[in-house]
Amino acid sequence: MTCRNMKSNLEEMLLAPDKASQAAREHLAACPGCRRELAEMQATLALLDEWHAPQVNPYFSVRMQALLREEQASGRAGWLERLRMRMLLGNRSPRPVAAVALAILLLIGGGTYAGIATLTSRQAVVIPKSATLRDLQSLDQNAEVFQQMNAIDQYDGGANAANAGSM
Ligand SMILES: [Zn+2]
Repeated sequence: MTCRNMKSNLEEMLLAPDKASQAAREHLAACPGCRRELAEMQATLALLDEWHAPQVNPYFSVRMQALLREEQASGRAGWLERLRMRMLLGNRSPRPVAAVALAILLLIGGGTYAGIATLTSRQAVVIPKSATLRDLQSLDQNAEVFQQMNAIDQYDGGANAANAGSM
């Protein structure tokens, strides 16, 4: 029995130590190199046994799907309107809200308006007048307006409700 022959025997000894041949046992007893290799394989296998994949929250996908359905059912105009109201009325953190909204808009708007076809044809993404891009541009402009309005509100000492009503 040579070390080269032991390669396949080592795998067998690892998975079913009882079934190893007499020749393989004798070689293993006489050869430190093969013993070390077997020990390394056993250590790797033990590590794999210990490793557990992290558990995903079982409600995550259900809640995410419900949220997506809700946003899609409410429609684009309604969604933007709600975002506008939220940015106007919830002045505490307009920037994070806008960032999250932009991400969701890319997610939903990109999927709905540009479609999966944009993945294969690059042109659809580049066309400047695509619906998604228009939304993003108007959102960007709106965000600037809102920031200016926020500055005015703070200057006025928070006449917020009046501004929101006039919008
Ligand atoms: Zn050997």
